[in-house]
Formats: sequence, structure tokens, C-alpha cells
Amino acid sequence: MTDKLTSFDPATGDEIGTLEVTSAVEVATAVERGRAEFAAWKTTSFAERRRLVMATREVLLAEIDDVARLISRESGKPIAEALSMEIAPVLDLMQHFARNAERLLAPRKIGIALYSLLGRSSKVVYHPLGVVGIIPAWNYPFSIPLGEAVMALMAGNTVVIKPSELTPFIGLKIVEIFEKAGFPKDTVQAVIGGGETGAALVEAAPDKIMFTGSVATGKKIAAAAAKNLTSVVLELGGKDAMVVFADANLDLAAKAAVWGAFCNSGQSCSSVERLYVESSAAEKLTARIVAETKKLKQGIGTDEDVSVGAMSSERQMRTVADHVEDFRRSGARIEAGGRRSGDTLFYEPTVITGATNEMLGMREETFGPTLPIATFETEAQAVELANDSEFGLTASVWSSDGRKARRVAEQIEAGTVTINEVLYTHGIGQTPWGGFKNSGRGRTHGVEGLMELVQGQHIHENHLPILPDAWWMPYSPNAVKTFRGFASKFATGSMLKTTMLLPQLLRRILELRKKD
Ligand code: NAD
Repeated sequence: MTDKLTSFDPATGDEIGTLEVTSAVEVATAVERGRAEFAAWKTTSFAERRRLVMATREVLLAEIDDVARLISRESGKPIAEALSMEIAPVLDLMQHFARNAERLLAPRKIGIALYSLLGRSSKVVYHPLGVVGIIPAWNYPFSIPLGEAVMALMAGNTVVIKPSELTPFIGLKIVEIFEKAGFPKDTVQAVIGGGETGAALVEAAPDKIMFTGSVATGKKIAAAAAKNLTSVVLELGGKDAMVVFADANLDLAAKAAVWGAFCNSGQSCSSVERLYVESSAAEKLTARIVAETKKLKQGIGTDEDVSVGAMSSERQMRTVADHVEDFRRSGARIEAGGRRSGDTLFYEPTVITGATNEMLGMREETFGPTLPIATFETEAQAVELANDSEFGLTASVWSSDGRKARRVAEQIEAGTVTINEVLYTHGIGQTPWGGFKNSGRGRTHGVEGLMELVQGQHIHENHLPILPDAWWMPYSPNAVKTFRGFASKFATGSMLKTTMLLPQLLRRILELRKKD
């Protein structure tokens, strides 16, 4: 009997629909089909790929309201955020990589210093990998897999997406949009199911796995992928710190903290999960944050004036409730929110003061609408507190002193640190995205992310194939003397010292010629 997967609207509990789970055999077949299609797709020109991606944008734009509604219904997020945090940024990413992938992946000449004097040259050319398996989380169920798919396709790969079990219809929508735009069959496919289907996709040995999700699953995927030496990019959890100095624009910092902590009900990998404020500004900043928080309307995401939607699942809800309870027990104060609304998946935006790094909600990823606030006295202490975490995805530093902010930013162990800004750079397709420490391995977006989807091939050429190389056989005492000279003169990288080696090099080459 085929397994079924039913998707629900977390805000209302309404059923969105039921789908058949893709069996492990069908997953392997999908990867095989993707590999067969790869043989043709990799030969398409960048112009053709660009045309198709730009056509995909047009299909998406034509269906924008339906897609936004589906994202809002299946994930629980406000329709405003479906548009501002998923659809608009991914449309921008699509045009960027459609227009620029050819330039970014153009063959690259490599400077080879003194070797070029011997008439040699080197370049790197980039080849696609094959089939890219994309396994996303549910929290940005549209923009993350779609953006990664576009980058993979522009680089010449085909794609198999395994959407989260909480958002399968959004995954299917992505494939439908590509198909409507005219992408050849099997360039983009979806397989449906939960963890087992994801595991089957890894087992089917695609040529790359792009994974977004928890640290625990990331470790399982890395271990399973190692069996086939499949390379993986892991985009994992975060416990992102916001550091606010007293000289910051506190009005702006308060609004940023509220958006950074509560957008997507706090279910962003780069949500503000911990706020550290210089103690002299703590009272003022907290008062503003609490006032801003109380303005927010919470409700069903498809209502256009709703700012905070539903959480995604009961599991998420329990983590949030546990962390808030621990804050309470540990002596922190709840300044706003702190409650679940009945037995629904709505948790009130919650502001907590008196937090310390020992508390559960300051150590583990909460992934919910909580904003715990702690204080610091000195710059060094701010850095120490921000770095006191197993995670390192993003962080932000707020100050009107640019030099201080940059100095602090570079000391924070995180893949992205924003100054006087918060959270949003995943939306800038040109910039790399990825974590330090347990927040991940590898990068998506930016040139760095595109490079994850290709393999560089080094082409080296001897433009003067006339003389034998001095290091070739047969060896002799003269050869050994020459190699000593290579080590002490040529290998210094100094032109002057290398020139001193020329008579010996000439003797060696004449010796080789004589032996011909
Ligand atoms: P999750 O790890 O439970 O699931 C992620 C995906 O992996 C899902 O599609 C799931 O079906 C699949 N999966 C589960 N077990 C698997 C297995 N053994 N093999 C293969 N696939 C498997 O994570 P989640 O709850 O969906 O997402 C929340 C997490 O994602 C948070 O920790 C969040 O910080 C993180 N996240 C990170 C980023 C980033 O860019 N770093 C972005 C979004 C979310």
C-alpha cells in the first residue's frame, strides 16, 4: 500500500490536501531520470538557460497572488512575508543568476608566476556536477529550494527537490512553475515525503546535496552521503545574536529587533534569538521593544494586516513553551506575551528581560517568537557573550560608531554579520550565505554558492613544446644539482634568484637533449 502525506494549514487546521509518498525505488528512478536528462541539459547554452529562467520568473509573476496564498496557507506565515521574504527576493535572485551565471562561471586564467616564463599557462573551466538533490526545511519552503534550483540549473545541473513534509504542495508548485516556463522534462523533479524520502534521496547518490534543516538531520545526511562521497552543503540552525551599543539609534534598533525576532513567528534560521544591549541603554531599548511588540496583530496569515502568523507545528510550539517556561523558572522576566493562545498554533510575541547565557532559551535554538534580552558592560564582553554558542549563522551589531561596529563584527564568529541591519541578507542573492561552527558547512548564494554547484577543471598548457623539462628522466648528478637549485632559487619566487639558476638549467637541458 502506498503511504500518504496530508498537509494542513497550521493557522486553521484545515486540510490542504493529501499526496502519495514517493517510494525509495521511485526516488532512485527520479535521480536516474535526472542523470539521463543531465546529458542533454549540460550542453545547453547559457543564453538558453537564461531564457528559461526569465520565463520562469514571468510564470511566477503571473501567479504571484495564488503562490503567496499557498505559501501563507501551508506554512502559516503572513501573506505580507510570503511576498516580501520569499517571492520578491527569489525573483531578484533568479534575474541575477540568469543574467550573471555565464560571467561568474567563465573560464578563469590563473597566474602561475615564474612558470609562465617557461611558456606555460593555466586556466580553470567550470563543469556542472550532474543531479543536485535539494532537501529544504519548511520555514522558507518556496524561496530556498527555488533559489537553489535556479542556481543549480544555470550551472548546468538537473535537480530533484524533496520538500519538507509540512510544505509538500509548495514543493510541487515550484516544479509546476518550471514546467510551465518550458523547462525540459526531468530537469526539475519533486519527490514527496518525510525524513525517509529525504534519506532515500541521499541514498540514491545524487552528485550534490543541498540541505537546509536542523543540526541533527544535517549530521545524519553528512554521514549517509559519505558512503558515496556525495558532497553536501549544510545550512543548519542558528542562535543569532543582536548586539546593541548605547550609541546606536535605539528607535531603529528596537523596530529591527521586533522584526528580526518575530517575522515568520521567529522561525527563521537567522532570527534574532538573543539580544545583548549595553546596560546603560537597556531600559530605554526594552521599553521601545515592548511598545513595538504590543502594536503587532497576530492572526491567520492570509489576512493582509496580520504581522505574526501561526507556528508551523506542535513540535515547534512545545520547544517555544519549554524555553519560555525555563526563562520564567530561571528568574528572567516576561515583559510581553509569554502565552499560547488556547490550543492553537499561535504563540504570542514574547519579550524577556534578565536573560543570561546559562538559560536554555539562550543556548538552544528556540525557533519561535521570543526575544530574550541580556545586558553587557564592555565591548569585549559583548563579543564574548555573542560567541558563547555552538551556532554561528548570522549576528548583528548596532552602533553609530562605524569603526567600533566593524571591529566587533569581525570578531563575531558567524557566517554573516550585519551592521545596523538585521536578518535580511539571505534575500540578497549576490551575497554568500552559510554558517560558522554548527550552523553549517559550505555556502549557498553568491559566487561562493554557485561554486558549490560546479567542479573546477584545471587546464594547463605548454605553449613551447620544443625542449624536454629539466625534471624529466633520466636523472643524473647534474639533475640533482639542478633540483637543488630549484629548491633554493626557483622556489623562492624571486626572479633574480631564478636568473642565477639559468646556466645550470641550460646544462641540464643540453644533457637531456644529448641523451636523445
Ligand atoms: P529538519 O532537519 O527536521 O528537516 C529538514 C528536511 O530534512 C526536511 O525536508 C525533512 O523531511 C528532511 N529530513 C529529515 N530527516 C532526514 C534524513 N534522515 N535524511 C534526509 N532528509 C531528512 O529541519 P526542519 O524542522 O524542517 O527545519 C528547521 C531547521 O532548519 C532549523 O534548525 C533552522 O535553523 C534550519 N534552517 C536553516 C537555514 C539556513 O539557511 N541555515 C534556513 C532555514 C532553516
